[in-house]
Amino acid sequence: MSRYEVQPDGCWRWTGTMMNVGYGQISRHGRNVPAHRAMYEHLRGPIPGDLDLDHLCNNRACVNPDHLEPVTRSENTLRGIAYKRRQAGQQPLWDEAA
Ligand SMILES: [Zn+2]
Repeated sequence: MSRYEVQPDGCWRWTGTMMNVGYGQISRHGRNVPAHRAMYEHLRGPIPGDLDLDHLCNNRACVNPDHLEPVTRSENTLRGIAYKRRQAGQQPLWDEAA
């Protein structure tokens, strides 16, 4: 579980196999699983079944558990939309300080 490089910004960039969607990939018990999920479970314990791990750093190759937060799928999707709007210089759709 050490196929990553610590970046200056604190991200642990996965250096092993990559999935085509930008996530790291690891083989575990004969199955391919996203590296960030495997790393989180390795260091923090099991992720509740139906939760996604949101990359707070928006770096899909990052496997630093400090940059990952278990969220529901819908929350993760909303966050992605909000991030894209910020990148585009648009106003957030709601108050994100909450
Ligand atoms: Zn990160």
